[in-house]
Amino acid sequence: MGAKRKLISLASALALACAVWTATAGAGPPSVRIVSAPGQIVAIPAAIPHEEGDMIDSRLIPDLRWIAARFPIYITDGYSGPLPNGEYAGCHRCHVAHSDHYNGLAVDIVPLNGGTNCDASWAPITRLAHWAEPVQNRPVAPFRWVGYDGDAGHGCGNHLHLSWEHAPAPQYQLAEWVEVFPAGPPAARHKRPSRAKPAAGTPSGVKPAPGASSGVKPAPRPTPPAPSGPSGGFATSQAGGVSVGD
Ligand SMILES: [Zn+2]
Repeated sequence: MGAKRKLISLASALALACAVWTATAGAGPPSVRIVSAPGQIVAIPAAIPHEEGDMIDSRLIPDLRWIAARFPIYITDGYSGPLPNGEYAGCHRCHVAHSDHYNGLAVDIVPLNGGTNCDASWAPITRLAHWAEPVQNRPVAPFRWVGYDGDAGHGCGNHLHLSWEHAPAPQYQLAEWVEVFPAGPPAARHKRPSRAKPAAGTPSGVKPAPGASSGVKPAPRPTPPAPSGPSGGFATSQAGGVSVGD
């Protein structure tokens, strides 16, 4: 036994090490943190390529800048829901119930200048998807749900969905906290775009008209928007249910 067996176990140890390395190499950000400071639904900055009018919870912007600096992404949808001015942001009726898009904590991504075929232009998006979810249905923190190959309506040639972990929040309301990865100096050195330019009027975030049923089309809001109070929220979200984003 000696030598040969030792050789075999060395080989299998190496193979195991390799497998582990392959599975974890480049998977997700090295650390995450919780942001409890209030967010706002804001326009996505120009530095992050996106479809006109797309909006997002401001607390995700550093992460999105970081991603956009490393992957040729084009965001096709972010926040989907009513705005204080009575308009609707994002793709209407595109997302499943309880989607993180309704809280401004999800983005849909295609390649910048890419097509709708799963061609070479999608390779970086596939890398990004595997970075966020190295093993199917096991997204790495801070990602809450990753929709790509293996998920209906998602994948190479279609789109990549990324959403971020967050406190439970009713539809169309900002989450109390969001988990993000520290995006580092390149984004932080810029002029704090997430706070500089709120796109919507109220600092308290998105508050559709009370009584808007299933939040589809709230009545246009008279100006000025009501201050946030106990009745500022609304209760259209159903209790329970697992929010798998789409
Ligand atoms: Zn999505």
